[in-house]
Amino acid sequence: MVVGLQSPADATFWSIQGRTLFLIIPLLGTVLFAYIGARRLTPLLCAQADSRFDHPLLRLGNVLKFWLGQWRHPRYRFAGAIHILIFGGFILLATRAFTLLIQGASPNFVMPGLTGEAGRVYGIITDYAATIVLLCMVIAIVRRLVFKPARYAVPARHGKGHPIDAIFLLVLIAILMLADSLFLATRAAADAQQGLAIEALAAFSLPWFLTKVLLSTAVAKLQFVYLGAYLTHEMTFFFLLCYRPFGIQFHVETSLFSIHFAKLDREILKPVRWGVSDGQLDQVKSFGVKTFEDFTWKHMLDFYSCADCGRCSENCPSNAVGRALSPRFFTIKARDYAFRTYPVFSRSKGNGKPLIGSVYSEDEIWSCTTCGACEAECPLLVEYIDKIVDFRRGLIDEGNVPQSLQKPLKALESRGNPYGKMEKKRAEWATAKDFLQACRVKNLEKSNGASTLYFVDSITSYDDRMQSIGRATARILDHLGENFGILGAAEKDSGHEARRFGEELLFIALRDHNTDAIKGLGVQRIVTSDPHAFNALKHDYTEVPPVEHISQVIARAVKAGKIKFSPVKEDRVYVYHDPCYLGRHNQIYDEPRDVLDAVPGLKRLEMKRCRDRSFCCGGGGLMLFYEPKEDERMGVKRVQMAAEAGANVIVTACPFCMTNMEDAIKVAGMEGKMSVIDLAELVDQQIVREDSKLDRSAAILAAE
Ligand code: SF4
Ligand code: SF4
Repeated sequence: MVVGLQSPADATFWSIQGRTLFLIIPLLGTVLFAYIGARRLTPLLCAQADSRFDHPLLRLGNVLKFWLGQWRHPRYRFAGAIHILIFGGFILLATRAFTLLIQGASPNFVMPGLTGEAGRVYGIITDYAATIVLLCMVIAIVRRLVFKPARYAVPARHGKGHPIDAIFLLVLIAILMLADSLFLATRAAADAQQGLAIEALAAFSLPWFLTKVLLSTAVAKLQFVYLGAYLTHEMTFFFLLCYRPFGIQFHVETSLFSIHFAKLDREILKPVRWGVSDGQLDQVKSFGVKTFEDFTWKHMLDFYSCADCGRCSENCPSNAVGRALSPRFFTIKARDYAFRTYPVFSRSKGNGKPLIGSVYSEDEIWSCTTCGACEAECPLLVEYIDKIVDFRRGLIDEGNVPQSLQKPLKALESRGNPYGKMEKKRAEWATAKDFLQACRVKNLEKSNGASTLYFVDSITSYDDRMQSIGRATARILDHLGENFGILGAAEKDSGHEARRFGEELLFIALRDHNTDAIKGLGVQRIVTSDPHAFNALKHDYTEVPPVEHISQVIARAVKAGKIKFSPVKEDRVYVYHDPCYLGRHNQIYDEPRDVLDAVPGLKRLEMKRCRDRSFCCGGGGLMLFYEPKEDERMGVKRVQMAAEAGANVIVTACPFCMTNMEDAIKVAGMEGKMSVIDLAELVDQQIVREDSKLDRSAAILAAE
């Protein structure tokens, strides 16, 4: 009489000894996977260089935090919890799966370290893990088929998604879990019937339930199911391994590397070509991305690593207002292209055709506001801004500049501002008669001796409405006793937007001009009221003194008791709108809020989308000149969000946000119900001035 069940290794399958079959399957599976993996690597080998091998400890920290620790997943609570459970289950079950595979050839194999009590505890933990993973698969399938969260939808303008692929893979994982549990359960049921010692199974786990169900099944049948479960497990395991590189589940293999090589300094745009200095740019034959092979290898790896979860697009303002761009589909289209042009079972190596026109439209590329919401959300740290900017560099290189951008870009080149206004008028905002009574701003071009430079930038210098932000900033600095001045006609646009619109050479010219002008002043620090200038001076410029946004200066002064506020008089409700280049790109979230909360009587609420989930107002700089096809304006959406939060005043800290939202209020017909004010304007308005400037400032503010 046979005691216990015959092991898969000792059984015979289609006249093949199990021991042999279960050596052949893993061998074939591994070789096939290695071949598929190598083919998938082919485009990466044809790609542009990328510098991702620095800071190994920081990178390891990212892997522990974002890959192993699943840091970003709980941003979506339910889906995040499901993913963490599946991921945790997989990690726990990995050893059990490998043990099972080896037992096909060596039935008594036990993983070192998992004998005796340790093995029993591990067995119980993994019984629960398999159960939880199976349940999560069922939930995920039901979610995708029945509840269909909006972020999984595929709008017609983006072509096709891969919903069936996702469901098929969920089903395969469910089969793997079932086969694993059935294998344990049949053996336990047979042992129980034959009076043998039963391997402890976790109470109420899937193997435990299956054992209960199978207890009265004849041993001969159990033997059949036992071997069938093993074979199913083995075949599914290797099928999954080799099938994953053909779809979204490839991220299981690639995400670890993608996170390890993720960009560490997200605020700094990638250079035109890694390893090519600004001085060598004239030797670069082609700028930016035109063909697939113009992407860097890391950017290609991103395409493989996207899990198609849709979080980026759900948070993308461009997608929200119906523009051509959806980051999720930006990636999916690139991955589909890579799979199509570098097929696994052919020696084809891409087609070298331009991507614009065949995969992407120009409008798609110009639609991005570089707000960074997609990158802040992606659990796998997929990058977008560098890719989009690289595409724009490619378009500019070929002279494909949208009509509406040609004039401002030309004006930037000739006059140093996108409006084409005279350089000598740049400081006129500081010469208004009323303003001069309260505050005199040194023009450092003409007089020396300031320790702080107020970098005004173009919109605040030239736009009539935004000049009020400049004057408020100057009055605040004056109130704080700062020895400050401006560059006047010697200041040119910071070039922030020119760079993000792909005009790298123009940016370099503007940067070098401003750097020389600033260095000549001998100032110790720079203050600006424009987050775009702040971001440029802080990250794009390398040889200028430290820079602060005015909100940081005010917050510090409030904390030190150098600023006192009078109470707000009207009973209004305020919300703070985080400008993308202050918040997401520079993590300045608390200072503006601290300042607002220090104003007596100011009632402040938060919008649902705030801080790193802030919704872009429509974009700054040159975005003001570009008119993409869209269903509605981002600014309109944003003021509606403020209204939904119950506010009637939006406070922002960026002249571009001010422009977009003031326009949006008019477009949405919300005049009288909603207003916008810059933080500097509000502070200037509420400051308690103890000298005679008080009355003059109040009078000036009333006039403005
Ligand atoms: S940077 Fe902003 S606008 Fe551009 S793709 Fe990402 S979320 Fe969309
Ligand atoms: S890029 Fe990231 S957030 Fe967007 S769909 Fe892919 S995995 Fe999700």
